[in-house]
Amino acid sequence: MTALLAPFIESYDLGCAEAALLRGSWYEIDLGAIRHNYRELRSLLPQNVSIYACLKRNAYGCGAGPVARALAVEGVAGFAVASLLDAMAIRRMGAGQHILLYPGALPAAGLMIEALDLTVSVSSVDELERWRAAMTKTRVFIKVDLGFFRAGASPQDAGPLLAAANAYSDVQVDGIYAHMSELPTSKSSDAGIQFHRMRAILAEAEVRGDRPVVAMMSSTEGVLTYPEMDMDAVDPGALFVGLPESHAPVRRVVLQQALKTICTTVVAVKHVDASLGPVPDLPGFRSGMKLGVLGMGWGDGLPRQVPPGTEALVGGTRARLLPPAHLEHVRIDLSNAPDARLGDKVVLLGRQGDEVITHEEIAAVWGTDVVGIYAGLRDHIPRIYT
Ligand SMILES: *Cc1c(COP(=O)(O)O)cnc(C)c1O
Repeated sequence: MTALLAPFIESYDLGCAEAALLRGSWYEIDLGAIRHNYRELRSLLPQNVSIYACLKRNAYGCGAGPVARALAVEGVAGFAVASLLDAMAIRRMGAGQHILLYPGALPAAGLMIEALDLTVSVSSVDELERWRAAMTKTRVFIKVDLGFFRAGASPQDAGPLLAAANAYSDVQVDGIYAHMSELPTSKSSDAGIQFHRMRAILAEAEVRGDRPVVAMMSSTEGVLTYPEMDMDAVDPGALFVGLPESHAPVRRVVLQQALKTICTTVVAVKHVDASLGPVPDLPGFRSGMKLGVLGMGWGDGLPRQVPPGTEALVGGTRARLLPPAHLEHVRIDLSNAPDARLGDKVVLLGRQGDEVITHEEIAAVWGTDVVGIYAGLRDHIPRIYT
């Protein structure tokens, strides 16, 4: 039995077609799109600016390991993730690049972090001491908060922290970085103010003689809007899966979506007859209708409240989902697809025949945005890489 299952368990890790068939739901991820997006960015950046690809949230749901491998082939300098599990997935794929851990990992994982040769983020002297106590050799990026009120040393504390880190022979300072404020109250003029704070910190470090080799502060929005803030490296993430977040891009990129389809299958078909009792008083339910059940529910990434009117593609035509969604199932009105049968493929995002449901369409219907669609992809749904 175990021998019989082994190939499937293996392929589940690799996101192969067999695993997709076993579960009946899958995502199709286009690694070519990710490589294209990397090249678009690379072609616009000066040669001396390195790219640390931010692959947090399992590479925005696209799979940190395979995405890292694709970017490693393109020559990416490093990766940045918040979860140690994502860092492990990247190392398991054999990517030997620098991996920066954003705040999120804890000193309790020190041995593992050292074994995987990861660089931790440090925002205070207290954090630095905690990491030093947990590891023989501590590789750090100093994190600075330029006005986001999140992790990072304040501009005033950054210099002393850098000096403290440099004073230890068991600490290796790989770089210093910041993430520009994305608070709803942020104004575009804040970017310049934050850049000014970063430059002041670096200027002081130059004077002390402890400026790290790598200074970095641009994510997708920054790298597309503020070329002057490139410094030594940039760490965009959303850009690689195809999300231009910038409102007024100075650098124009033509990006491709990495997520091609969200697919599931028909797991049951029924005729709504009178023996079931009165038809529920819910939008879309009618006596005598042909109703299907799909093998995907809100536990698999559908919205908890599927709005009435949400459509999917079955048999090459649009059909309406019938809320409510359940943990593992959702109903569909098969009036437009009378031939639908057990095992038929259903497309929630992507193309089927001449019909297509776009990222923008499901983002609008699901009440989120395109980043929200990526971030909502679930790790237990197999990914097929094309
Ligand atoms: C998320 C994040 C990024 C990447 O942001 P995108 O908008 O996805 O490009 C970069 N740096 C930090 C610290 C982050 O948290």
